[in-house]
Amino acid sequence: MPPAAPTPEPSGSPILRLEAVSKRFDGAAALDEVSLEVPTARTTVLLGPSGSGKTTALRLMLGLLRPDAGRVLWREAELDAAGLRRARAKMGYVVQDGGLFPHLTALENVTLVAHTLRWPAARVSARVAELAELVRLSDRMLARYPSEISGGQKQRVALMRALMLDAELLFLDEPLGSLDPLVRAELQDDLVAIFERLGKSVVLVTHDLGEAARLGHLLVLLQDGRIVQRGSLDDFLHRPASAFVTAFVRAQRSFDARGGDARGGDAHVGPAT
Ligand code: ADP
Ligand code: MG
Repeated sequence: MPPAAPTPEPSGSPILRLEAVSKRFDGAAALDEVSLEVPTARTTVLLGPSGSGKTTALRLMLGLLRPDAGRVLWREAELDAAGLRRARAKMGYVVQDGGLFPHLTALENVTLVAHTLRWPAARVSARVAELAELVRLSDRMLARYPSEISGGQKQRVALMRALMLDAELLFLDEPLGSLDPLVRAELQDDLVAIFERLGKSVVLVTHDLGEAARLGHLLVLLQDGRIVQRGSLDDFLHRPASAFVTAFVRAQRSFDARGGDARGGDAHVGPAT
């Protein structure tokens, strides 16, 4: 188990807040009265088994879904349609599996929105150079199509795309989920460095407790659309809120002890890099 990240106090008011938000699909609750503050300039990690509502929570925060009940507040203001558009422009999203357009090169994927916004060419290339250095991708890789680069490189491209417009709040949905353990560990280290350097507010989804502890300041565990515990890794290990939390932690630790994927979870071996 990697060392626990320190849990500094969140600074100032939250950048985004869910207030008793519920969302149902076909009569079944995907999220059930979830209240959550996303602190500014910190990384919040949503944890939980498959189907627990992690992606739904992200999509609600992004305004891609509207809550059936409850409120989503951006800097303490509830969003109307115009406010939502303005707030969305300040959010970056790395969807599960990266979501790159296969018919565009990596570079074209990264610059698509900037071109749509008619950024001058010099501004586009300056920003690309800055981000390529940040995520450690060469021009040669950026000229390739998604099918011609590795899983890890695709996630780096997806991260560049999400950072292109300098979003204040970044959402990453299982960004490392399909990568093999070595590439995954390397990208975890890079993400820690990138988040620290940029000081962004980040919400990251994973089902891997080790990854959550390594990347997150605040850990939030979901079960069946409800938050069962929030806190630090230490809280999860030593002050579990329920038997489910204990079982969740133990499942990941027993995986460690078996000497498999050292970071536990159900990371599957993905495409080789
Ligand atoms: P997670 O990301 O934690 O795996 P999701 O948020 O994707 O979970 O899903 C939570 C629950 O909501 C699941 O039961 C899922 O089947 C359901 N769900 C999510 N999106 C939809 C949708 N668009 N239509 C119907 N059901 C959905
Ligand atoms: Mg999901």
